[in-house]
Amino acid sequence: MKTPAPATPAREAQPETVALFISDLHLQPSSSATTALFLGFLEQHARRARQLYLLGDLFEYWAGDDDMETPYLRRIVDALHATSNAGVEIYWIAGNRDFLAGADFARAAGLTCLPDPYVAEIAGERVLLTHGDAQCTDDHDYQAFRLQVRNPQWQQAFLAQPLAQRKAIIEGMRKGSREAQLGKSMEIMDVNPGAIAALFDQTGTSLMIHGHTHRPAVHQHDGRVRYVLPDWDGDVSPPRGGWLALDASGAIHRHDALGALLPEQPALQPS
Ligand code: MN
Repeated sequence: MKTPAPATPAREAQPETVALFISDLHLQPSSSATTALFLGFLEQHARRARQLYLLGDLFEYWAGDDDMETPYLRRIVDALHATSNAGVEIYWIAGNRDFLAGADFARAAGLTCLPDPYVAEIAGERVLLTHGDAQCTDDHDYQAFRLQVRNPQWQQAFLAQPLAQRKAIIEGMRKGSREAQLGKSMEIMDVNPGAIAALFDQTGTSLMIHGHTHRPAVHQHDGRVRYVLPDWDGDVSPPRGGWLALDASGAIHRHDALGALLPEQPALQPS
């Protein structure tokens, strides 16, 4: 015999939002609509959370912390600092485009840099956080490049060059990167399932959140769950983007670029 379900209280309190996760905004002066969406997100949504996790490629590129005096970057950094001052703990994992952001940036933005990958304990959950590019192991050319530019000596030598020269080099790389991507299959640019399984195994986690691939989804890996964050574009209609919210009960909710709640149970996709 079935026990009747208890009546739902008329006003059931929503569990408190503990942490928000966002990535791949690729902010740059030419993307004013995406920039406005992000600033709106900070003002209207991030401030209701206790923690905000920026999981890489917030910026289209970062030429060095001495670039922060440009009005555009100053505006973003100030908005982050205001969010931090409002009581939100902000955490940063670098992406493949903004890995040169350093200690001066972190101080100015009022945020804490985390290594990639990082296991955060949030609302009783162990959450594995990564940008995602290190798991794209099928792309051998990219992994060789990544190893080079993540080397502290390489970074020191690069940052010793004048800012204008660094920006010119990055512009050249971005052009090359676009050309390289056009010649590659879609598979090679996604994460490698073996690399994902290894990361779950190494960290003993069962919940992963990453960005980078611009393929927003919820994947199942033998009972372990991997959320992929969307990239953002405020210039399309409706705007593309969104974030994940982890509430005090440990549940994850998906929001679109304007903050609307997406369906609770998305169709799980095989890895
Ligand atoms: Mn990326």
